[in-house]
Amino acid sequence: MPRAGARVRVTGLQKKTEFNGSLGTVKGAVDGGRFCVLLDGEAGRELSLKPENFSLEAAGRAIGPDAPFASVRCDAALLAAGVAAHAGKWRQCADLYLQAYMIADSGWIAKYNSWSGYTSVLREDHFVASKGDLEVLKRVAKDESVPRLDRSRAHMTRGYVLYSLGDREGAARSYRQAMVLCKAATAEERTRNVLLPDERAMKLLPTPSGPIFDDTLKTASENLASIELPAQMDTQSIAESMATRFQENLEIGQEPQQAFDQAFADGMPKFLTPIGPNVANLASTKLELDRLMTVSGSVCDHCGGARGAKGITLLKCKRCGLAYYCSIECQKAQWKAGHKAACRAPGEVKVGDRLMLENVANIDEYHGMYNGMIVEVQRASSEEGRWDVGMVGGEIGKCASIATTELKRLRPVA
Ligand SMILES: [Zn+2]
Ligand SMILES: [Zn+2]
Repeated sequence: MPRAGARVRVTGLQKKTEFNGSLGTVKGAVDGGRFCVLLDGEAGRELSLKPENFSLEAAGRAIGPDAPFASVRCDAALLAAGVAAHAGKWRQCADLYLQAYMIADSGWIAKYNSWSGYTSVLREDHFVASKGDLEVLKRVAKDESVPRLDRSRAHMTRGYVLYSLGDREGAARSYRQAMVLCKAATAEERTRNVLLPDERAMKLLPTPSGPIFDDTLKTASENLASIELPAQMDTQSIAESMATRFQENLEIGQEPQQAFDQAFADGMPKFLTPIGPNVANLASTKLELDRLMTVSGSVCDHCGGARGAKGITLLKCKRCGLAYYCSIECQKAQWKAGHKAACRAPGEVKVGDRLMLENVANIDEYHGMYNGMIVEVQRASSEEGRWDVGMVGGEIGKCASIATTELKRLRPVA
């Protein structure tokens, strides 16, 4: 990552092509993973460039000693981030922490503190993380020249952000990668001290990395577990609380149907609402929905084996991207065993599919349906690109027309 003061040459611009080949000086990181570059001989002309649009020039061309310049800027950005946090300006705070991190060289004592600050703010849900945030997290996570501690924190934070944006598959992948990095930390990496604020955030104290790795590992595994088995975890307690509520409703004199409906409405968490009163076998329907809601990818979808032939990553079905296998053999076997019929390419929908509503804007029009609910496709709507869907187990014949883009594919049933 270029630091402030680094000399660069502009290259590969598609629009402002007249600047290709120009020399300039990096002023610092800006939003969206870009860098502000001050061009030579252009009287204050600055460009905001992606990293692929400049190359580092030989150090001999640098003007003046750039290291002090960089560290002064880092300290200033870090202090300003603290001020922004106290003022509740969280987006600005995150940007300043990130700026401090990006322009610092690896020897700067507060470098990890800046990264910790940036990633913590992203995980605190003060604002919706941007595409730029996701890019930066990905870049740091994958950069092998970056300390493993920073990279594991990047993966874990990316998991948080992706999950909050509705990408459960992506979140699960990020959490798994964070776990792999934490487990691979060497004794030397675990004893390395980083500076972090004390409890009152008054001063920075040397803190060993070991407990931070442990905390990242614990958080990532817990979050992954909650993504992988959301429904199963809740099935038992949901069923019990509904049964209790049903009894109570009967005891206070409600008619059985009313007692059931109310217990059902009260007891069903939002994400499970799909199961309506018209299911013959509640238990088996819930099992089916548990499977749909489960994010796969930790084990082979055919044999249950945990690891792919190429190491930690399992092979992914190229068509749907939602099924995982330990080997080509398992993939072929599962294709024959039912995945052929269950596999759906992005945007592909067939009658009978169960999908999740997402991004439905005008939700009230749809008979109280809402995003996050699982629906079953009944038939193609008269309008192109839309489907008549009904609640799984819901009122028979009651449908709403939903656009393909408002239907999220779930884990294939086979
Ligand atoms: Zn397998
Ligand atoms: Zn597939």
